[in-house]
Amino acid sequence: MPNSNAIATSRNTRPAPAALLIRGGRVIDPAGGRDGRYDVLVENGRISAIGEPGSLDPAQLAMPGMSEETPVLDASGLIVAPGFVDMHVHLREPGFEYKETIETGCRAAVAGGVTSVACMANTDPVNDNAAVTQYILEKARKAGFANVFPIGAVSVGLAGERMAEFGEMVEAGIVAVSDDGMPVVDSALMRRALEYARMFHLPVIVHEEDPGLCCGAVMHEGGMSVRLGLKGMPSAGESVMVARDIELLRTSKGRLHIAHISCAEAVEMVRRAKAEGLDVTAEATPHHFILDDTAVESYNTNAKMKPPLRSVGDVEAVRRGLADGTIDAIATDHAPHHRDEKVCEFDKAAFGIVGLETMLPLSLELVRRGCIDLGRMIDAMSVRPSRVLGIGRGSLAVGAVADIVVFDPEREWTLHADAMATKSRNTPFEGWKLKGKAVWTLVGGTVVWEDAR
Ligand SMILES: [Zn+2]
Repeated sequence: MPNSNAIATSRNTRPAPAALLIRGGRVIDPAGGRDGRYDVLVENGRISAIGEPGSLDPAQLAMPGMSEETPVLDASGLIVAPGFVDMHVHLREPGFEYKETIETGCRAAVAGGVTSVACMANTDPVNDNAAVTQYILEKARKAGFANVFPIGAVSVGLAGERMAEFGEMVEAGIVAVSDDGMPVVDSALMRRALEYARMFHLPVIVHEEDPGLCCGAVMHEGGMSVRLGLKGMPSAGESVMVARDIELLRTSKGRLHIAHISCAEAVEMVRRAKAEGLDVTAEATPHHFILDDTAVESYNTNAKMKPPLRSVGDVEAVRRGLADGTIDAIATDHAPHHRDEKVCEFDKAAFGIVGLETMLPLSLELVRRGCIDLGRMIDAMSVRPSRVLGIGRGSLAVGAVADIVVFDPEREWTLHADAMATKSRNTPFEGWKLKGKAVWTLVGGTVVWEDAR
């Protein structure tokens, strides 16, 4: 069980109430420019009204479907925001169900306030064709909980040789293409992918890693890697690929989205490319703006990820990039691994950590440190990722789909990996005292997660 008083309910087991009122919370809706105390009325899965506190009392309203029995969520003291959109998640199914399934991943998502996830293509089989895309969507529908938006592969089998058939995957429901986990090494293939994806208005999401510079490396290259005697990945292993792809974007147009940006040089390149007017966006993960490479000091394999935890200067650059909007989105790169893949020598351990359930408190930490304000945090976690993917979420406008998170920014809790909803336990934040938790998560107007006190 995730938590003694936390309840996760699949949409399929609990039908949406005709109406539901979220009363008295601080509503922050960056897309609509709203920040203040409001009541939010949800009807038939959509937001039907937003009004001054007390103005939407169900007993006073003679709306069809409304009555004194209309459920009311008391959100006083809490934040009401558009549900988070995590645009970088590894759900592991099909093929690696021992790490995570679509169902456990989606449950972990809503436990973290995430109402939509975009899932990467490095499953087995790879999501490089319509049949796999359809399989994922079907499984997600059965699981309930969060919305799932599949990302198709750039290349067949992620092999980096032949381009996948984007058109048939678009018809089946993909929202982006990416070989994430693997860099697209062949520059000609990358150029063609940008051009081809442009025809379908798809962003190409890139995992920037120069294989020559990063081959056999397990952490960031710097003083710490020298001290630990571990082979390091230089920042240039990321930035040379970002430079290449921005050059290719300049000539081929299209839309480029840089996954898990982690080094100062890359952030600066994106800043300049945006100033030039190129259609480039970027995301950063909570671990890259909270931790630096000193977290590896104890050879903790849960601090091993790609790109690696970088220097203090890089962490500061990522924070500045998030603050000024150079980095659009916060995404987790949620990457579950089985215990046996992490309880081993550092050199042999798998790359990646789970992130869905810690994204909110770690992002709130940036707010507490004064790097960004709450509005920008929600912009980065809901509005902008939704825009990059073109999925029409990230809004609390009247008429919008009622994907809503109600969270307590002050709730203190201690992370126990064993209590998480995700199937794997690979987190470097085990035992951390965290602040901030989703109290209610609504997907399509249904409460799918409740952790009320
Ligand atoms: Zn990833």
